Amino acid sequence: MFIQKTLKNEIICHGTGLHSGRKICMTMRPAETSSGITFRRVDLPNGSEIKATSLNVSDTTLATTLGTNGTRVATVEHLLSAFFGLGICNAHIEIDSFEIPIMDGSALPFMELIECAGIEAQDRPKNCLVITRPISVSDGDGEAMLLPSSRFEITYTIDFPHPVIGRQSYHMVFGRERYAAEISQARTFGFLKEVEVLQAKGLALGGSLKNAIVLDDEKVINKEGLRCSDEFVKHKILDAVGDLSLLGMPIIGHFVAYKSGHRLNNLLLRSLLMDESRYQVIDHIDELEGLRGEMDRLSKAVRYEERVFQY
Ligand SMILES: [Zn+2]
Repeated sequence: MFIQKTLKNEIICHGTGLHSGRKICMTMRPAETSSGITFRRVDLPNGSEIKATSLNVSDTTLATTLGTNGTRVATVEHLLSAFFGLGICNAHIEIDSFEIPIMDGSALPFMELIECAGIEAQDRPKNCLVITRPISVSDGDGEAMLLPSSRFEITYTIDFPHPVIGRQSYHMVFGRERYAAEISQARTFGFLKEVEVLQAKGLALGGSLKNAIVLDDEKVINKEGLRCSDEFVKHKILDAVGDLSLLGMPIIGHFVAYKSGHRLNNLLLRSLLMDESRYQVIDHIDELEGLRGEMDRLSKAVRYEERVFQY
């Protein structure tokens, strides 16, 4: 059985807003079973509560933004990624800004704070969504798909025409330890030219070498360099884990992405939810056994698709 989890204690977190450059205070609290991850803006007198779901994604430019009834909260993906990585599905977050603090540009500071506060298992099972038929979405040369698999796997490929990045591909079978060790510390990245354009527009005012990898035309300009040579593709996986967590339940399936981003990740979830023939929701691992025959039959199709796309 998959058990729901929440925080054991309240966490108060201070950080900088990537876009506003302002100091932000965020409080994360334990939440009831089946309440999901919810946000409330305490800087707005009548700010509505925003539930973290794929259908509440209101903008995917530069980051994933959630919005309902005119209230929004931006750059949620790194925090949601940390929650998912630690198996937390219920938490309430109060924040005095429109954006989640950027911290060091990765999910590691959130992971450390949550682990300090502790994680509490709740007495209710958690549903999982099993992919039973492949589904894919594309945009230009970007593509994102979910294929049947007996576990949650991720294969991500990026391709940037930059000497330090180039083509990077990474595959992982998702697990808490692997996420913590390999993915959580990968920082967001940006190009110096683009940062200058954003700052001229009043965006990325809090961006600095303390919260992002910044590249000029040839190299990484952060003095400390990279945390690992494939930090770029690992950060894209970190983002995707946060974006896919907006489904509200873990996926049992293989997420394959080529040059994907927040927009395609969200489009994939919306397309999936519109087609019930591609998934089944289960609340007990034993139910997965009943689906194995069907999944074996589908595996040939999956192998075919994997060959076609050559990830
Ligand atoms: Zn990111």
